[in-house]
Amino acid sequence: MLQISSYWREGTPIRLNLAPDTDLPAALARAKASSRKRIANELAQLVPSRLADTWVQQESAWQRPIAEASDKALAQLAERLARWELTPTGTEGYRKAEVTLGGVDTRDLSSQTMESKQPGLYFIGEVVDVTGWLGGYNFQWAWASGHACAQALAARLRPSA
Ligand SMILES: Cc1cc2nc3c(=O)[nH]c(=O)nc-3n(C[C@H](O)[C@H](O)[C@H](O)COP(=O)(O)OP(=O)(O)OC[C@H]3O[C@@H](n4cnc5c(N)ncnc54)[C@H](O)[C@@H]3O)c2cc1C
Repeated sequence: MLQISSYWREGTPIRLNLAPDTDLPAALARAKASSRKRIANELAQLVPSRLADTWVQQESAWQRPIAEASDKALAQLAERLARWELTPTGTEGYRKAEVTLGGVDTRDLSSQTMESKQPGLYFIGEVVDVTGWLGGYNFQWAWASGHACAQALAARLRPSA
């Protein structure tokens, strides 16, 4: 969810595929041909069982043994699971935020030294418009840009021979 929030724009829907690694129409068709279980129980092999139980409540056509389900109902089930569209009501704001979008435009900085077009003014890390995926990339950016900047400052301060 945190990763998605870096891409989400307020008010816009997001579309989730709840079983991305499964060919749902084929899996449901196979189950229909061979299983006596209810649809929710078959679905529980593809998605978490509490989700499966709740999901089938949406349509009466999904609340029956899979062998008795119509092809149309199963096609609709597969389609809805693969394209669940929802519009988040908002984010949890800075209380939960881990990285911010936006900041100082990288085009205004030297990629070698992090110095801006204003000589002697440098920007590094989070304040720059660089947003990494979660999992360490933001730390990496903060450290790497800080290192590049420090090297440039040291070279600048070093007395020339
Ligand atoms: C809860 C949380 C979890 C995170 N988890 C990860 C993660 O797992 N992996 C990852 O890569 N990134 C993670 N991040 C993002 C990462 O921490 C930041 O991108 C990174 O620390 C930015 O480094 P920075 O030095 O640019 O800024 P900061 O670490 O924000 O440092 C800025 C410093 O400036 C100080 N300061 C502010 N104003 C002033 C002032 N006026 N005078 C003097 N000092 C001032 C602040 O106190 C602060 O110490 C996480 C962030 C949060 C909030």
